[in-house]
Amino acid sequence: MDKQVLGIHHVTAIAGDPQTNIDFYAGILGLRLVKLTVNFDDPTTYHLYYGDGQGHPGTILTFFPWPDGIRGRIGTGQLTVTSFATPEQSFPYWKKRLAEHHMQFEEAHSVFDEAVLSFSDPDGLQLELISTAAANPDHAWSRGPVPFDFAIRGFHHVTLCEEGYERTASLLTETMGFTPTATSGNRFRYSTSSTGAGTLVDVVCTPAGRPGRVSVGTVHHVAWRTPTDAQQQEWQRALTALQYNVTPIIDRKYFHSIYFREPGGVLFEIATDPPGFAVDEPAEQLGSHLVLPSWLEPARARIEQALPKLRLPLAVQHE
Ligand code: ZN
Repeated sequence: MDKQVLGIHHVTAIAGDPQTNIDFYAGILGLRLVKLTVNFDDPTTYHLYYGDGQGHPGTILTFFPWPDGIRGRIGTGQLTVTSFATPEQSFPYWKKRLAEHHMQFEEAHSVFDEAVLSFSDPDGLQLELISTAAANPDHAWSRGPVPFDFAIRGFHHVTLCEEGYERTASLLTETMGFTPTATSGNRFRYSTSSTGAGTLVDVVCTPAGRPGRVSVGTVHHVAWRTPTDAQQQEWQRALTALQYNVTPIIDRKYFHSIYFREPGGVLFEIATDPPGFAVDEPAEQLGSHLVLPSWLEPARARIEQALPKLRLPLAVQHE
């Protein structure tokens, strides 16, 4: 079977305060909160999922909020920058919006000649908007505070910061089906065989960099899309045969996952496109209340009492 990586599935990071996180990602960046649930491995903490209107793979940024956690350190062996695609001509809107929210940002052209707005979230997570003609028009949230014409359309690429890049490059190209598409200095860009936004990864080689430490304000892992459960089983077999320490297939309810660490230290996940976020609540209601997996339902009252109360975003009706 020809197994494929279609692109980025999701990125998962650690946040501090969950309300601050919601106010930033839903309130300022205009992503949809597509699932409010708990960390299945620790139901005393939330797991927040943001995405486009339906939470399509390739648009999903998720957070484990650790309100009492210490700041992590961004560095080598990590996914250091998460870059979203926005439509061409959207930057005048975004610059005004970020300035109105008293956010610092930088406008530049990347080494690959893309228009970039760089900024950090309230916990220091590094983000970018990339203005691109390849932004998928179907992957936006049209009822958030950002009008559809300017709204974020899922991921453009992610940046991995590595002490050395060769073994990571081999994994990407020889095993995972990526193709090298551009190089500039110590930055190497790869693309999956699919096209469009969310299919790119940059590997930046910084041999003298300090290793990162995963905690608040850093990325925990990146997940890559696979279209079917059958292909995921193939991935698990193939990576195990290559001596990667791959987890069993884990049911994350909205997708099925395997995890392994790439040679440079970044935690990789391969996640299935199905079943998606409408598996346990109607698409219309995504993110509007706390959803628990069936095995935690009996403990709902206790779980709800232990979790901090949140003000959830309201859908906006644009003219
Ligand atoms: Zn994940």
